[in-house]
Amino acid sequence: MRFFMPADTYVEKNCVKNHKEDILKIGSRALIVTGRSSAQKNGSLQDVTEVLKEGGVPYEVFAGVEENPSVDTVGKAAETGKKFGADFVIGIGGGSAIDAAKAIALLIANPEETINCLYQPKDLQAVPVIGIPTTCGTGSEATAVSVLTRHDVEIKKSIPYKIFPVLALVDGKYLLSASQNLLINTAVDALAHSVESFLHAKANEFNRMISGYALQLWKEEIPVLKKEQELTEDMAQHMMLTATIAGMAIAQTATSLPHAMSYEMTYRKGLPHGKACGIFLAAYMREYARQNKKDVDDILGFLGMEDLDAFEKLLAELIGKPEISEEELISYAENVSKDQGKIATYPYDITKEAIFEIYRASLVTD
Ligand code: NAP
Ligand code: FE
Repeated sequence: MRFFMPADTYVEKNCVKNHKEDILKIGSRALIVTGRSSAQKNGSLQDVTEVLKEGGVPYEVFAGVEENPSVDTVGKAAETGKKFGADFVIGIGGGSAIDAAKAIALLIANPEETINCLYQPKDLQAVPVIGIPTTCGTGSEATAVSVLTRHDVEIKKSIPYKIFPVLALVDGKYLLSASQNLLINTAVDALAHSVESFLHAKANEFNRMISGYALQLWKEEIPVLKKEQELTEDMAQHMMLTATIAGMAIAQTATSLPHAMSYEMTYRKGLPHGKACGIFLAAYMREYARQNKKDVDDILGFLGMEDLDAFEKLLAELIGKPEISEEELISYAENVSKDQGKIATYPYDITKEAIFEIYRASLVTD
């Protein structure tokens, strides 16, 4: 049994400014990687550039990472970083920017390689990455995972490299500009991470301790997600903390079937990541409970919920159900049930019929 999460992690107000020295000691020329505009608006980019200016560290900004970042974008950003001579990468944003930063850091460290290396299991290291989240979902600042979109094979897929940020700086104030939809979608991603890690084939005492605590924290977010309470700065910090902790859980186990099922919903139906995972959670837990009711009851207990019906109702209220044709449903279910790597994340035998049933229960309204 092992616990491993090497990112030096700070979760606090004014985190970036407070840890100026920790940032400055990581490298001498920085490539900052962000999404298209949110980092400019929520103050995170300014906090970072001020620290770099004060420390005399030259930087270049690549502000073009799209949602569900593509391999091509990562390649372009890496070219920018290489031309600039960057020796570390700062990813600021949602999971898209931080995941992209990890893959960019790998390419910068290996200038002789092309983007083709990203999906070849070679013995490559990345230059150091700092992760600064601005959503309350992926926990990418605390995981070694980088999920990219491969348009060549039309799917999202993690690269086979483990790239933990060396430093994670988590400040809730960046979340205050998030829309209600972004809060919901990303908080549901953190919920999915906690649940999938808890029910994973690799689950052990460490990740269950972490998932269990993340679920208890998540429970306190429900009134904000239902718009019964305003998002205060304290609650924003709490929601970011929950996401980082849930990231620490998947850093031990990886995610499981709901994430595997989400990727085609995002790629083909354009669903935001957290929502695409969340739609499958209740049916997945129902299937799991057939083998092991206690684990599912433990999760419901952490969330303070009476039963799976209450869990399902809350998620339906928050994220709804997307439209999907029978043809699409069959094709997606076929693809997931053929993927042995994904099936192996489930701790019990699971039939193709059971996977179809999770899809049907999640996507078809009676
Ligand atoms: P995201 O795709 O990074 O961002 C979604 C949108 O939110 C973007 O339009 C972004 O705008 C905006 N945004 C970000 N922060 C904001 C803020 N504070 N205020 C207002 N708008 C803001 O969303 P995400 O859900 O965080 O990340 C999803 C990605 O992470 C997916 O590709 C998923 O597969 C991956 N993921 C990774 C892991 C992991 O372990 N590494 C785990 C789960 C998911 P801008 O473009 O302008 O920034
Ligand atoms: Fe996720």
